[in-house]
Amino acid sequence: MARYRGPVCRLCRREGVKLFLKGDRCYTDKCAMERRPYPPGQHGQMRRKKTEYALLLREKQKLKRIYGVLENQFRRYFEEAERQKGVTGENLLILLERRLDNVVYRMGFANSRNQARQLVRHGHILVNGKKVDIPSYLVEVGDEISIREKSREIPFIKEAIESIPRRGIPSWLEVDHDHFKGTVKALPTREEIAIPVQEQLIVEFYSK
Ligand code: SF4
Repeated sequence: MARYRGPVCRLCRREGVKLFLKGDRCYTDKCAMERRPYPPGQHGQMRRKKTEYALLLREKQKLKRIYGVLENQFRRYFEEAERQKGVTGENLLILLERRLDNVVYRMGFANSRNQARQLVRHGHILVNGKKVDIPSYLVEVGDEISIREKSREIPFIKEAIESIPRRGIPSWLEVDHDHFKGTVKALPTREEIAIPVQEQLIVEFYSK
């Protein structure tokens, strides 16, 4: 599956918020949002009034960028969220949270979703004991996610586990870092998804 390969700090600067796309660096004063908290480009520091459309568009772009999903796939998540019962915006966030790369990141086995995606792609992740190398795989309640035994020495996994106290683990996941595994206890609720997005604006964007 295709993914964005350009400079990721530009994405945060474009959206005007930290999207935490670079792991450890995001928590230091090297973060580009700390140094240059304005949009990238020659006219980045000009003050411009945003149209209503631009506000809705930016909210959608922000969510896509947080999870590293491109437009077509994002659109498919939205359509699936619309088909489900309940509030479409919340359904959308829950679907994105259930992605395997996100769950590996949330469990603290990677410092960013990009790193987690790489772990999944390279076959280091097992779901219920079987290798799954599809980052967009949707986990279910009760699934056990673990790191393949041969892969447990990968340095960045250890570094990520060490930085867990700073990030924390969401309450819908249960993790046993000593044994490199975790379980999906429940699906997350909106309150448990700590991301700076107003999902109702994305629903509005697609309904225009
Ligand atoms: Fe965004 Fe992280 Fe880059 Fe800061 S360091 S701008 S939070 S990706």
